[in-house]
Amino acid sequence: MKTKNPLFSVVIPVYNEEGNVLPLFKEIKKVMTRLGSFEIIFVNDGSTDNTGVELKRLRKVKIVQFRKNFGQSAALDAGVKAAKGKYVVTLDGDGQNDPADIPKLFGKLNQGYDVVCGWRYNRKDNWIRKFISEGARRLRSVLVDDKVHDAGCTLRVYNKVCFTDLDLAGEMHRMIPAILRWRGFRITELKVNHRPRIIGKSKYGMSRTIKGFLDMLLIWFTRKYNNRPLHLFGTVGLSLIFASVLLLSALAILKTFYGYSLSDKIWPLVGMISFLAGIQLLVSGILADLTIKNNTVSKEWMIKTVRGPKKISTK
Ligand code: UDP
Ligand code: MG
Repeated sequence: MKTKNPLFSVVIPVYNEEGNVLPLFKEIKKVMTRLGSFEIIFVNDGSTDNTGVELKRLRKVKIVQFRKNFGQSAALDAGVKAAKGKYVVTLDGDGQNDPADIPKLFGKLNQGYDVVCGWRYNRKDNWIRKFISEGARRLRSVLVDDKVHDAGCTLRVYNKVCFTDLDLAGEMHRMIPAILRWRGFRITELKVNHRPRIIGKSKYGMSRTIKGFLDMLLIWFTRKYNNRPLHLFGTVGLSLIFASVLLLSALAILKTFYGYSLSDKIWPLVGMISFLAGIQLLVSGILADLTIKNNTVSKEWMIKTVRGPKKISTK
């Protein structure tokens, strides 16, 4: 196992995966040895069981140790940032992803893709999870259009350039395909094996449904309005101002010319609040736009290649 300048980096986030790391390590090693030079990076996401001790027993692995539990995305992020390989493989530390699928994924990557995502088409999880995943997939296809069936499958292979300027936090790992597609990377998917969890238990409950939805909204906004927030806030703000001016004018006419009593009515309040909210939104949009226009020119991840003379004459 060459670790100085390996071709492949395998990144595995682990949180309380006692009993799982050793068998998984053996499986990965067996598969990767056939592929080329590689390094294995375990990110111990603040495990409180024996995972840390078990990791230290493994030979020639890089271990990134978190001070406490910061979540799977942060762990993946730290692992990828520690990776030296030209290609990155990510997979779960509980043994549900099958390392035997890795060569197949690289075979696909070789066809000219930047990312190949695993699709657990035969998922070994309970029906509620599968049902929620299917709902989430439909919502994602409308909101963020990532064009992958399974955003929750960690088993993926990447060209390392995909991670340029990509900071993952919270539970954003599920949004990686959406972000990368938006950034212009070539993404595809491949059916992979999924195995039941034998040791330990899942780290996620129902709360991830809500969090996943919020993350999706954030990505939807980023994709659509990242460079022009004024268009969103301004449209809603102006509509509110327009509607409230209409309402308030109508009330003024009713009161002045028809003697309509407003003292016990809610409408003047509704009109005023809508007007103020509209102004607020409009101003927020302008401020957001100003901030962004001052910040974003171009980013490193936008550039695929640069061609031309290496040195530009300044004479
Ligand atoms: N994980 C992590 N930090 C967390 C939660 C999970 O590093 O806060 C790791 C976990 O150890 C596993 C992977 O992320 O290797 C996926 O977690 P899990 O198997 O619980 O997710 P599920 O398969 O149930 O979706
Ligand atoms: Mg799992």
